[in-house]
Amino acid sequence: MRKKIVAGNWKMNNDLAETEMFLVELKKQVFPDDVVIMIAPPFTSLNHTFRSLREHPVALAAQNMHQSNEGAFTGEISAKMLKSVGASTVILGHSERRAYFNEDNAILAEKVNTALENQMTIIFCIGEELDDRKNGNHFELIKTQLSEGLFHIADEAWENIIIAYEPVWAIGTGETASPEQAQEMHEFIRKTMAENYSKTIADEVSILYGGSVKPDNASEIFGQDDVDGGLIGGASLKVESFMKIVNSF
Ligand code: PGA
Repeated sequence: MRKKIVAGNWKMNNDLAETEMFLVELKKQVFPDDVVIMIAPPFTSLNHTFRSLREHPVALAAQNMHQSNEGAFTGEISAKMLKSVGASTVILGHSERRAYFNEDNAILAEKVNTALENQMTIIFCIGEELDDRKNGNHFELIKTQLSEGLFHIADEAWENIIIAYEPVWAIGTGETASPEQAQEMHEFIRKTMAENYSKTIADEVSILYGGSVKPDNASEIFGQDDVDGGLIGGASLKVESFMKIVNSF
């Protein structure tokens, strides 16, 4: 059985005081036991969040990490550092990292290796831009992102991978992919995995949809056969909307 997952990606939002306000509210909530709930605060709030949520079924993810284990990389954060503050999951390949910080598939493949070496779980993001979709290149592009960034890993490593399909044109724009568009791409991702690995592996990996998921569209999207949950940006910043989405299966 694939896991149902809802992960909140806070991006560059919430300082420590704002994080604490969110956590106070979050800890009052009742959590469904069949959904894995994750939040990805900025680096500066990770350890506080970890300590605060110790008794609660909410996993902690980081939004990025460096591909090297240590060294002269001013301003960067390693896998070991993340684990030491309680984050054992990391988001890799978010379209904002790809677009604004030049993270290409080759760098992402290195990051994947480093995260796996450090026994971390990875939320690996893929997604096409609007032009790719208009030109009909979206399937090919997704296939390339998967094969260059992820398909070098061993069969056993897949138990540590979650895929997030996030069409770039739907991120933060208020424009969601239709449930049919999401299903079509998720099915394609699973088929591509089955061709490169096996049907068993493809059937077991959780594939999340991301891009303007809100309380009022989550259940229709999560209701698609190959959609196992969501990676939520804007709507994860308020406990009320985040929890509505968590309860949308
Ligand atoms: P959004 O962001 O929900 O604000 O569109 C999703 C994401 O970038 O992960």
